[in-house]
Amino acid sequence: MEDEPGLVLTLRDRLTKEGYAIETSSDGESGLERAAGEAFDLVLLDVMLPRLGGFDVLKELRRRSVETPVIMLTARSQVVDKVVGLKLGADDYVTKPFEMMELLARIEAKLRRAPVTPHPSEGHQFGTVRIDFRKAEVTKDGEPLELSAREFQLLKYFIEHRGATLTREELLNEVWGYNSMPSTRTVDVHVAWLRQKIEPNARHPQYILTIHGMGYKFAG
Ligand code: CA
Repeated sequence: MEDEPGLVLTLRDRLTKEGYAIETSSDGESGLERAAGEAFDLVLLDVMLPRLGGFDVLKELRRRSVETPVIMLTARSQVVDKVVGLKLGADDYVTKPFEMMELLARIEAKLRRAPVTPHPSEGHQFGTVRIDFRKAEVTKDGEPLELSAREFQLLKYFIEHRGATLTREELLNEVWGYNSMPSTRTVDVHVAWLRQKIEPNARHPQYILTIHGMGYKFAG
C-alpha cells in the first residue's frame, strides 16, 4: 500500500522483475480490505496513507487475525515510528528513501520459510486442531470434530501439500477422483464447510487461504 504514484511504479516494476506477483492499493481503506480478504505472502505498508493511515491498517489487520508479514515504509526517520510499528505487529521497517537492494533483501528475509514436511505419516497439528491420520480422527480444542469422509480427505490433502497453491482442478482430481463429475464449485463448497469447522474465524481464514485467481493454499 503506497500512495506516491512514482514509487508505486518503481516498486511494481522492480518486484515484478524479481518474479513477485504484485497488487497495489493507493489508500489505506481499500488496501486493508484487500490484505484481509486475500492471501498474500507479504504486505508493504506505507505509514502515511490517505483515508486510513498505515498504523491503523496494521492494527486492524492484526485485530482480524491476519498474520501476513508486514514491512512498513515511512518517509519519517523517527525512532518513535519504528517502535509504534513493531509494537503493533510490523515485522520489519524500511525508511524512505531506501535502496532497492535493501528492500529486496528485507522482503526475501521475510519470505524465507520453514521447510515443509511433505508427508505427515501419523498426525498433524495446527492451532488447536489435531489430526490422527491412522484413526481418521480430528479434534479441536480437545473435542472431537465431525468431518465427512470427503472433508477429511480434503483436509489430509491440504496438509500433505501445505504451502503449495492448489488449483480447484487439482483438488477435484486428487480428492474426488477422475471418475466423479462434480464441478469446481463443489470444491468451494467443501472448503467453506471445512473452514467452518477448523478455522477460528471462518470469515477470515488463516489456515485454508484463498489464492486469488488460482485456488487454495493451506498454511497450517
Ligand atoms: Ca505516503
